[in-house]
Amino acid sequence: MVEGISATTWFPSLEPSDCSLCAEARARLSPEGTEVAGEIAVDLVARAMVGSVLRAVISHLSRALAPGRVSLLVPETAGTWRVFASSAEHETHDLVVYSDRYPELLETSRTSTPFVAADVGMAGELRTARDVLEKAGVKSLATYPIFRTSPSAESAVLKVSFYRPARDEHLALATLVAHLLLHRLSRVPLAEVASQLGLPAPPETAAATQLRLLPLPALVLDASGQVLSTNARARWLLREREPAGSGELPRLRLRPDQMWETHGSRWEAALLRGQDEVEVLGWSASLPGDRHLVLLEPHPEARRRVRERAIRRTLAEKLRELEKANVLLAEHARVRDRFVSDAAHELKTPVAILRPYLEALSDDLAAGLSEQQLEFVRAAAHGAKRLQRLTEELLDLAALGSGHLPLSLGPVSIRTAIDAVIDELEPLALAAQVTLRHDDVAEVLVRADDERLRQILRNLLENGLKYTHPPGAVTVAVQSGDDHAVVSVCDTGVGIPAASLPHIFEEFVRVPGNNLSDGSGLGLAIVRRLVFAMGGRVWAESQAGTGSRFFVELPLWTGEG
Ligand code: ADP
Repeated sequence: MVEGISATTWFPSLEPSDCSLCAEARARLSPEGTEVAGEIAVDLVARAMVGSVLRAVISHLSRALAPGRVSLLVPETAGTWRVFASSAEHETHDLVVYSDRYPELLETSRTSTPFVAADVGMAGELRTARDVLEKAGVKSLATYPIFRTSPSAESAVLKVSFYRPARDEHLALATLVAHLLLHRLSRVPLAEVASQLGLPAPPETAAATQLRLLPLPALVLDASGQVLSTNARARWLLREREPAGSGELPRLRLRPDQMWETHGSRWEAALLRGQDEVEVLGWSASLPGDRHLVLLEPHPEARRRVRERAIRRTLAEKLRELEKANVLLAEHARVRDRFVSDAAHELKTPVAILRPYLEALSDDLAAGLSEQQLEFVRAAAHGAKRLQRLTEELLDLAALGSGHLPLSLGPVSIRTAIDAVIDELEPLALAAQVTLRHDDVAEVLVRADDERLRQILRNLLENGLKYTHPPGAVTVAVQSGDDHAVVSVCDTGVGIPAASLPHIFEEFVRVPGNNLSDGSGLGLAIVRRLVFAMGGRVWAESQAGTGSRFFVELPLWTGEG
């Protein structure tokens, strides 16, 4: 046995490019050895048949290590070995050797690891064979297990006898070639190698048939956790990622990285092949011959992760679409505001000229008009007044939308503003036969634009009067908190149906069947934008048939503009 090499490291499931044993041996080679190893590596790939690969390797190696002999022996019955191929011409298939005369075979087979004796005279394990070795002129010896049908089965052995003391570089070459051979054979299905070497079929061939019948993804593992065979359903777990036509067996890596033996009968693992990996849950049961039957299912966490990834991808896509739509919407809104503002500007002057003429006509010059003419002129004056108000509202809205409405924020007394607006609207209230009053309002200073705050109050109070039948009431109250004040305008009017309530602050929205008077549906939209512009918020509560309550919250004046 060679120190540091266990059966599991010698029989690895790694590719030669990742194999540290191969790398170490390669580092010890002489330049000629490197050349020979290169030639052999080419042969290993180029030849398809196992027998042909073995014979080519034996012939290359014996030439490189001459004088010496290279043979491949396969286990026959307990304690006997048959020579499968040899560089010595007289040794044929018929030659059977006995392990008592070849203790190195017994040693290699027992440990499933290489046995290397640089000086046969010094190796204790070779004591019984010393005479034979001396007579044959063998100075150094190395035996390497290169294939076994199961971890408990005897191995086929590559044996190198040196007829002169072997230098380290020679032993390194033998070790490297043996391990490359082992890698090569591990890529061929076990049953195929066994049949070509004349060995009994591996036990997992029978298990493979049973595996195929199982309705779940399943594997058979050996005692070291190496996958011996899989069924189609287990391969299907990796199917989407499998390179077409790859017959390579997957590996199972337990999570967390622990030895297979330390695990109970249920565990988490990753099923790996090449770069591909799938998380699985496994249940294992023992099979005869130190093997395990493993049933697998995709790990639910992994499924969740896959689902999450899909959701995240969809979300990101939708978000991008939304962002694009938002940009488009903002652009459209800009174009619309610009158009509204331009149109309102164009209307403003002619309407401003028209209205006083029509009013003068209907009031001062009425005497010269017939009853019908007067009715027409009054209707025209009323229309001009509405048009002027609409123009002003549109200009306000456009200015607020583009952020161009100049606001002069400062300390404003709510009580003074409320008193002034109530005074202003008193005649309207009288005409509507609706009581307009305020509760005791404390002197509170809010941070606002005085003129615009009055516009807000005017709008809400006018609405209250407009949508309240006589003899109703519109009441204004104020409540102040730590850093804000809330003005409420409460009426006993027609109310707003629940379906319309969330929309009444939108532009041009009027509650269907609710409009007792003229209006544009812009008043509340302007109120909302003005309140926002002053750093406040606005909302409404209402019950159809009972009345409405509008709230405006504004920050208290703190002494800072
Ligand atoms: P309008 O010029 O039509 O009054 P507003 O934007 O001020 O426009 O109001 C939008 C709509 O909300 C009104 O048309 C009306 O249907 C409804 N509304 C507003 N205030 C009240 C209220 N106090 N009571 C009932 N409905 C109201």
